[in-house]
Amino acid sequence: VMLSGLEEQQQIERVVQQIIDSLAEPFHLQGEKVFISASIGITLYPVDGSSLDDLLKFADQAMYQAKNTGRNRYSYFTRGLQQAADKRMYLTRELRNAINTEQFELYYQPIVDLRSGAVYKAEALIRWLHPEKGVVSPNDFIPLAEDTGLIVELGTWVFKQAAQCVKEWRQKYNKNFQIAVNKSPVQFMEDDMHDGDSWLDYLQQHDIAGNAIIIEITEGILLDTPEIVLEKMQAFKAAGIGLSLDDFGTGYSSLSYLKKFDIDFIKIDRAFVKNIDDHADDLALCEAIIVMAHKLGLSVIAEGVETTQQQQLLIDAGCDFAQGYLFSRPIPLAQFTDYLQSPPALKRLQ
Ligand code: C2E
Ligand code: CA
Ligand code: CA
Repeated sequence: VMLSGLEEQQQIERVVQQIIDSLAEPFHLQGEKVFISASIGITLYPVDGSSLDDLLKFADQAMYQAKNTGRNRYSYFTRGLQQAADKRMYLTRELRNAINTEQFELYYQPIVDLRSGAVYKAEALIRWLHPEKGVVSPNDFIPLAEDTGLIVELGTWVFKQAAQCVKEWRQKYNKNFQIAVNKSPVQFMEDDMHDGDSWLDYLQQHDIAGNAIIIEITEGILLDTPEIVLEKMQAFKAAGIGLSLDDFGTGYSSLSYLKKFDIDFIKIDRAFVKNIDDHADDLALCEAIIVMAHKLGLSVIAEGVETTQQQQLLIDAGCDFAQGYLFSRPIPLAQFTDYLQSPPALKRLQ
């Protein structure tokens, strides 16, 4: 197999792992189940060699290495690459084990209505409670989960937890409560054809309204959107689920997407909010985003609000919602429930 146009090592490993996994599925031969395994050797042009003969020889050597270390796996010709791959494989095993032994917890961060101070939205943020390392930040394992496809399982777990919570909060605190869950582009791509339906099925089976859920996507997903992704997003929208564009301002910030994809919320990235009190440019950008969003009928959520001054500037600019350490860090369910019973946000705003 030849792979061209590679940008990072993980891309190779994903393809290779898929080949190994596919071959490991049972084959049905005249009514009998037959199992085989594959061992794959990897060599890189031009790093390892530049002649075809050399490359074939190196790939062959690497393949024997894979066989010798137990088959049903891959091996690199280059040691450094192999070590990096080993580390990733180790982390992947840990992550898989963490899924099986339920080492994850969902934290919630309130999203505050800047006009009233009320809290009837929250973002669900995953945490890995590692038995030795303690709380591991999603920044350290989400990319790996995306590379290995484990994000699909993890994301569905997040979705179900969040859906159950919002159902309860709707009954107890506010019938319009909405919970925002992050959904990475990989989840949209890798989910099987019916995944869009299965999230929707889940809501239906548990009697949870679609508009209790907001899905946060990043702009990456809107570039060259494959038909299947578009269909999923439309199915979500049709079921009443809200769409929120995360980290707005850091990527392409294409205005045409906002209408084309029927987005409901824009989240202004923390990078802009951070400096609005002393960078006139950043304040101007925030103001412009808010005006534009409102003209298009969208609401704006400012991320990473840490000071009362930032909050005031955002209120003055007409921003709808804010989220940040000023109001609360992301907190576990029990603490969040306490927060909802006596929201400190109201006091801060007076
Ligand atoms: P994000 O979606 O942009 O989430 C906002 C991040 O900003 C969170 O980091 C949150 O804890 C942090 N944050 C909120 N307010 C403040 C503030 O006032 N100051 C500062 N300095 N930070 C603030 P966290 O929880 O570490 O999550 C990091 C990223 O991991 C998220 O960025 C999101 O992209 C990803 N992530 C988290 N949970 C999930 C999940 O369930 N699924 C997926 N696919 N990605 C997730
Ligand atoms: Ca988010
Ligand atoms: Ca964000």
